[in-house]
Amino acid sequence: MPAGTGLALGIDLGGTAIKVGVVNRAGEILARASRATEAETGPEGVVERIALAVMDALHACGRELSDLDGVGVGTPGICDAARGLVRSSGNLGWKEVPLGRLLSRRLGVPVRLENDANCAAWGEQWCGAARGCDDVILFTLGTGVGGALILGGRLYSGASGWAGELGHIRVMPDGPPCSCGLSGCLETVASAAAMGRAGQEAVAAGRSPAVARIAAAQGGQVDARAVITAAREGDAAAAEILRRAGEYLGQASAMLISALNPALIVVGGGGAYAGGFLLEPMRRVIAEQAMPGPAGVVRVVQAALGNDAGLIGAATSVWR
Ligand SMILES: [Zn+2]
Repeated sequence: MPAGTGLALGIDLGGTAIKVGVVNRAGEILARASRATEAETGPEGVVERIALAVMDALHACGRELSDLDGVGVGTPGICDAARGLVRSSGNLGWKEVPLGRLLSRRLGVPVRLENDANCAAWGEQWCGAARGCDDVILFTLGTGVGGALILGGRLYSGASGWAGELGHIRVMPDGPPCSCGLSGCLETVASAAAMGRAGQEAVAAGRSPAVARIAAAQGGQVDARAVITAAREGDAAAAEILRRAGEYLGQASAMLISALNPALIVVGGGGAYAGGFLLEPMRRVIAEQAMPGPAGVVRVVQAALGNDAGLIGAATSVWR
């Protein structure tokens, strides 16, 4: 491999948007571009829009593909990184799609593929909240709950790639049905989407005028953002929603802490903007339910890179 330019291209492929960035080794995004995913157009259509976004981002900083050390893609769902294969993605509606090969052929350069939550964990470890830490558990609170395990400095993917599906740890017996076919999974009660649903119920029951008012001001949508804003303004029902989500996260974390002895648990995704409203109850339940030894060393923190963690992690995966 040549000496390298110290620049890599990161691609965050989401269900609704493709985000592309040219990233340096400090994790700074020098140029970015985005396109709608339009997953219904199939893998070839999505690959074409990724390529257009890549060209836009390169053009914005006066670079060419040959100037880069590599290209990394974070993709939702289960993927086989070694074969560049998206095995199953509910968000994209894909099964067994050779995205790495399709994109590599379109761009004319090698492409690394990795699960999006794993990319977020790499990003946080490279230059965010988990910098320098080799034993990290990451939760991302979005439409679902994503997860990643970095153990002994390596991403742990398990016997067949399913490790880190932390959103499907069961925390509530007889809980709501989950997209995975089980019920009472963590993501049914602690995702940003679940916070939004709980907010809708509170509004419908007349328990939270603050959530209703904030939602109306932001266009009518009762979502996690409205719940978090209302909690910050002192709304008790909103704070209660976040407290319960935090307790469920604490319950899942306690099991993971006893099993894996992590140094750090990082909480990212849109739901993490709840900050202490979520993290304080999480820490309290960990103290109550995890073994005192490992519970005494773990720190629980909010992610540092926000919505860019996946993009930065996809790019920095090139240098690992
Ligand atoms: Zn599930």
